[in-house]
Amino acid sequence: MHRYKGRFAPSPTGPLHAGSLAVALASWLDARAANGVWLIRIEDLDPPRTVPGAARLIVETLKRYGLESDEPIVFQSTRSDHYQAAFARLQGKGLIYGCACSRKDVDNMIEAQSGRRFSVYPGTCAGGAPCGKPIRAYRVRVPEKEIFFFDRAADGCAQHLQRDVGDFIVKRADDLWAYQLAVVVDDAAQGITDVVRGADLLDNTPRQIFLQHALETSTPRYLHIPLVLNAKGEKLSKQTGAAPLDIARPLLELQRAAQHLGLGAIEAPSVEAFAKRAIEGWKAREERLPAA
Ligand code: GLU
Repeated sequence: MHRYKGRFAPSPTGPLHAGSLAVALASWLDARAANGVWLIRIEDLDPPRTVPGAARLIVETLKRYGLESDEPIVFQSTRSDHYQAAFARLQGKGLIYGCACSRKDVDNMIEAQSGRRFSVYPGTCAGGAPCGKPIRAYRVRVPEKEIFFFDRAADGCAQHLQRDVGDFIVKRADDLWAYQLAVVVDDAAQGITDVVRGADLLDNTPRQIFLQHALETSTPRYLHIPLVLNAKGEKLSKQTGAAPLDIARPLLELQRAAQHLGLGAIEAPSVEAFAKRAIEGWKAREERLPAA
């Protein structure tokens, strides 16, 4: 077994909030409890969503909170060549096709065929895009079988990619890489053994496992932690108006995050003392979790 390597992979779309802190803390505690290595990776793949200065603020805030990357921070915006190489491998296996459908085309087709509005791509361009229509994106052909994996908290999870997701986009024609491909390439390149992240990404995991198989890279262990919700039951995010973390009160915010992670009230005089107690609490919590 390789030495534990975990990561926190924020998208720099704004400052950290209580939800992203809970994820960062969980992945950091999991790495520290396993005497492992913990990395920060900035997922700045989508220029329109990237907020200037947000990456620096995220990294500074994490540092004030005692969460520092053990290796130099990787920025996805610098890794296009690696994504291109993986894309070429998938192409070499006949798994990629160009798709001319706009999002609206896809929605209309789905509604016409099933009366439902959910985003399973019906495979319109799988046999070739219509002549004369420009390619908008590249999709990967998904298999007609269930992908099954164990999540350390949710237990066994299965998803039939063709039925539940459809062929999904890995690259846009304007050269923007999709999260699904980039995350798989980077987790493999960085030797990540354990992914700890928010439960909103649980149903992305089978797509990533399928890509890992196609690219012949190993599959990390996964732990998806419950999302922090606001009073309306929505995931905290910039869109739902989440308050930025108070950089001046790390201890209080860390204590709240620990509560959310089921570690109870951790009294501590300093961030350092909190970290020690939280690691012990995390180890005890792990012993209570069913073994995957
Ligand atoms: N960048 C993603 C986010 O901020 C997280 C990706 C991951 O942990 O796999 O939601």
